[in-house]
Parts: sequence; C-alpha cells; structure tokens
Amino acid sequence: MKAAVVTEFGKPLEIQELPVPEPGAGQVLVRLEASGLCHTDIHAAHGDWPVKPTPPFIPGHEGVGPVERVGEGVDAALVGKRVAIPWLGSSCGHCRYCVSGWETLCASQVNTGYSVDGCYGEYVVADAGAVVEVPDGVSSLDAAPLTCAGVTTYKALKVANVVPAERVAVFGIGGLGHLAVQYARLFGAFVTAVDIEPDKLGVAHQLGADHLVNARTHDPVEEIKAVGGADVAIVLAASPKVFEQAYRSLNRGGRLVCVALPGDDAAIKVPIFETVLFGISVIGSIVGTRQDLAEVFALHAAGRTRVIAETRRLDQVNDAIDEVLGGRAEARLVFEF
Ligand code: NAD
Ligand code: ZN
Ligand code: ZN
Repeated sequence: MKAAVVTEFGKPLEIQELPVPEPGAGQVLVRLEASGLCHTDIHAAHGDWPVKPTPPFIPGHEGVGPVERVGEGVDAALVGKRVAIPWLGSSCGHCRYCVSGWETLCASQVNTGYSVDGCYGEYVVADAGAVVEVPDGVSSLDAAPLTCAGVTTYKALKVANVVPAERVAVFGIGGLGHLAVQYARLFGAFVTAVDIEPDKLGVAHQLGADHLVNARTHDPVEEIKAVGGADVAIVLAASPKVFEQAYRSLNRGGRLVCVALPGDDAAIKVPIFETVLFGISVIGSIVGTRQDLAEVFALHAAGRTRVIAETRRLDQVNDAIDEVLGGRAEARLVFEF
C-alpha cells in the first residue's frame, strides 16, 4: 500500500510502498476512502510537543472507510461496515475514566497517527472497540473532518456548558473552527468568529457567525467587548497570544476553552484576581468520546452541519501541509484514495 511517512521531524513526508498491515487480535483492517489533514498531524510531523511520536510513523486520525478484514475475537459482521478511525486509538476500558464516559482521559490510551500508525495510507489497522460506524447519510468525505475537527469542537461546546443566547467567541476558523461556529449556533449561542485571514472570516459568515473580527487588523478583545463580550471563548489557533486575547475577551462567569496546542512548553499567564472575582473557568478539552462522535454523525446525517472539505491526493501531502500552514486551505483538506 501507499502511505505518507514521517521519517524525521521537520522533513517532508515520504510516500512509501509498504505492506498492508495485518489486523491483530481485537483489531480491524480498514481500507481508507478519505483521510483528513488535521493541524495536529503537522505538529506530529514537526515534533512540536513535549511528548513526541517516534519516526518513522504514519500520521492521520481522521480516517474513514470500510472494514476489509477482522482480527481474532472480532465479530465478522463488522466486515463491509464503514467506520471512522479517531485520535483515540484505544483505551484500557476499565479505569475510572473509561468506565465513566471519559475514555479520552485514560492514562493508558494509544493515539492514532501518533503512538501508532495512522490514516495517511491506503490501509490502517485499528482497535475494533475504538472505531465508530459512519451512518449511510454521511459521505466518507464529510465523515473524515467530523472524526476529529467535528467531535473536538462539539465536545468543546459541551464542556463549556453553553446555553442559548450566550455569546461564544471562536478564535481560529480553520478545520476545527468552521465546525465550531456551527455547533455554537446549534447550542443556541451568538457567535463571534476571529481569524487573521479574510477568506476564513468569509467562511464563518457563510456558516452563520453573527460577528467577524480580523485579528490582523483589529484588536479582537476590543471588538468582542464591543458586542457584549464572550461568555465562552474557544481557542483553536495555536498561539499563546491568542489564548490571552481569548481570556481577556471573557465576561464575568466566562469560560476559556483551550483546544489548540502550541508547541513545546507554551504557557499562558492567568491573572488570579480577575479569575477569582469574576468566576472565570479555564478548561482544557481533548477530542471527544465515541458517543460524542456518534452524535456528531447523527447531527450531520440530519442536515444540521456542513463540512467544507477540499480533496487532495496523498502524493500532494507536503503541498497540502504548506497550504494549511500558509492559511490558504478554505477549511479542511482531505486525502481521497
Ligand atoms: P487550522 O490550521 O486548520 O486552523 C487554525 C486557524 O487559526 C486558521 O484558520 C488560521 O488562519 C487561524 N489563526 C492563526 N493565527 C491566528 C490568530 N493570531 N488569531 C486568530 N486566528 C488565527 O488548524 P486545525 O486543524 O483547526 O487545528 C487547530 C489547533 O487545534 C491545532 O493546534 C491542533 O493541533 C489543535 N487540535 C486540538 C485538538 C484537541 O483535542 N484539543 C483536536 C484537534 C486539533
Ligand atoms: Zn485532529
Ligand atoms: Zn482507561
């Protein structure tokens, strides 16, 4: 099979011809039809974070396709079913997090395209218990971005406990952000979209954002305060400065939801006095569970969300990464096989 491989941090990915992997006990072999390019894959390929993957590895955690074969102990009825392979490659299944619907916090988790090979290839093996069936009403091209960008932003809105008529500011209208705007509206919020690229703000406008802020030309804190402040600010741009702007745009009782992951030991300075007196919450949010993803698919199948995805061939992977880094992708890029 063809796969895009990170051979060394910071180097272009290599297209290699590799053997189709064998599904082990408890695993399925999936023939990928679509595989999204999440900014996390770029962080992985650059070795940006304190916990690093080990090259050579195949990135990608927005994979979708039919199960072609099952390993030992897996129900053969899964063969032919179309599934999504998310970031959470497996979890222990019995710790306090796993048994309480928080498998995303399991300390024994494995991450697709990071600690195990992922979806930038024609085939992938995945834990049968971690994949989520894609309903018929959702195309593979749409399902791919929903598998990380969708579930992550849906969960971010959930953990922020957004209620109708609250004001949500979304910082970064990329792959994640274009879906965050839509979920915020589904939760009943007024939405301010912040980005530095006019085209991304155009996308946010099309998707129903109430206010748009170009953070390259305007101070987002002032602009957001001018339209009532943010009850919830969701950070989807990987820059500590943006986290601070998001914090400063909050109203009393506001919630800062940290989702983007700037490199290495990036930190934000949180003023204690305001945080205490104004009852501010700072929340970290990591992807979403299998149940969250099933809900994301159900909403999409019912026509409540729109995925903006452009297709690329896998051999265009390095150009695709440059497009995302240069802010030129409209929303999500998806490799089609
Ligand atoms: P992306 O590149 O598609 O989107 C980032 C957006 O931020 C772009 O539209 C860009 O123009 C915008 N931006 C850049 N600088 C900005 C600024 N100063 N102010 C406002 N906007 C700015 O990336 P993505 O795939 O949407 O991922 C975003 C981040 O979320 C990455 O760091 C990724 O690793 C992280 N992520 C986290 C989780 C999680 O579970 N916590 C899951 C997926 C991705
Ligand atoms: Zn992702
Ligand atoms: Zn666990």
